[in-house]
Amino acid sequence: MTYPTQPTASHFIDGQYVEDRSGTPIPVVYPATGEVIATVYAATPAIIDRALTAAGRAQKAWGQMTGTQRGRILRRAADILRDRNHDLSVLETMDTGKPLQETLVADATSAADALEYFGGLAGSLTGEHIQLGADFVYTKREPLGVCVGIGAWNYPTQIAAWKGAPALACGNAMVFKPSETTPLCALKVAEILHEAGLPAGLYNVIQGMGEVGAALVTDPRVDKVSLTGSVPTGRKVYAAAAAHIKHVTMELGGKSPILVFDDADIEDAVGGAILGNFYSSGQVCSNGTRVFVQKGIKEAFLKRLKERVETAILGDPLDEATNFGPMVSERQMNIVLGYIEAGKAEGARLVTGGTRVDRAGYFLAPTVFADVTDDMSIAREEIFGPVMSVLDFTDEADAIARANDTDFGLAAGVFTRDLTRAHRVVAAFEAGTCYINTYNLAPVEAPFGGSKMSGVGRENSKAAIEHYSQLKSVYVAMGKVEAPY
Ligand code: NAD
Repeated sequence: MTYPTQPTASHFIDGQYVEDRSGTPIPVVYPATGEVIATVYAATPAIIDRALTAAGRAQKAWGQMTGTQRGRILRRAADILRDRNHDLSVLETMDTGKPLQETLVADATSAADALEYFGGLAGSLTGEHIQLGADFVYTKREPLGVCVGIGAWNYPTQIAAWKGAPALACGNAMVFKPSETTPLCALKVAEILHEAGLPAGLYNVIQGMGEVGAALVTDPRVDKVSLTGSVPTGRKVYAAAAAHIKHVTMELGGKSPILVFDDADIEDAVGGAILGNFYSSGQVCSNGTRVFVQKGIKEAFLKRLKERVETAILGDPLDEATNFGPMVSERQMNIVLGYIEAGKAEGARLVTGGTRVDRAGYFLAPTVFADVTDDMSIAREEIFGPVMSVLDFTDEADAIARANDTDFGLAAGVFTRDLTRAHRVVAAFEAGTCYINTYNLAPVEAPFGGSKMSGVGRENSKAAIEHYSQLKSVYVAMGKVEAPY
């Protein structure tokens, strides 16, 4: 199969594509057909070394440039991404299986938003002046050095840019390792950044499985690690980074709640639950997979949910009419099927879906379970697929306690027309990213990230700057030094 904007080699190092076929081959499978569309090769130790050496060398001069100069390049890259949005969206669809209807509006465009936003911010990054009588302290905001980004497979273009844009804006270099399941899109981000004028070596992409990620995380030349992935991987990467006291950002998994009160607009609540469970075939970390519905509207909610979910257009992801695509891989499809069987066995009521779809590729029908109880595995574990659990509640305080009764804390949402209740509930949520009367929006201007085991640090917004720079305090004495002896 041919497709536009195919990357020309496995890695992008020091401003150019690099191939090294001595690494383990990684087939890239188009999830809608099961066809192998490309093969990349895992980075060997020599490739890892080349990428880190290039990054370390290039960072020195980049860190000395003005923020305005750096930002101009990032904003130029944003413009190129937007100009090529269609072809890049096709590539994202080939890499992930997500429908083109989604990728056209959510992937290269959100990467462009990040480059534009952090490009705009770069020129205004400053320290501060602290007057202490006649003496004073000034602070300098300095880059960290070489940052490593490690990506999950659901948003390969977006994750590459959400990590790269703030890192580069702050004067760092980056070595990015995409997920082995979706290795292609980050290469295009690297290519476009350099086309926009980024000096060679500042944004490198190398391929590989967990071992390559682990080699990067443990390398003493690396100053910061930003991971998007699961909690078990996060534990390993956080521990490895701690050995050298490296900075970390951890964007991990979730099992987020949505509370729907009986005064909510049912169409909006159903729409929010659909967005929070079935976008990208449910492969979104912040999904609100535990939908708590107040008893008074439960059956009305389920009726509309079933009607609307059953109108999903499942099919060829490259057809712009399709709005529901396959799972990213056969492996992920089988994991999700296992949870669907568990839901049935544990006694949940299947409202719709619950099966693999009879066509090529890794398609599952969007699935809703009702009468789910808090102890069921489908209500406790992150499934990362199109499986919504609907639970009942009567009392607000009880619903909040149940919503918070999880080790995760990525996101949470509430649907109600009662203004004070909305804010009261959100104040009680133990989650980093909350929604009132909507769900799953992640604009670059707002901090995004989790609490509890869902993560450490924040991506996007001005908050990300704190995670890609450090302050140096300089005390300036204006008088004599008074020592005791
Ligand atoms: P994963 O944890 O299996 O892998 C993530 C990345 O880590 C991959 O690139 C993988 O190769 C790498 N890796 C694995 N072991 C490693 C090790 N020991 N050292 C260094 N790197 C290692 O996750 P996945 O299956 O690719 O993605 C799904 C998970 O990601 C879900 O849990 C989802 O919730 C989470 N996710 C979180 C966010 C967020 O922003 N919070 C966004 C998307 C996905």
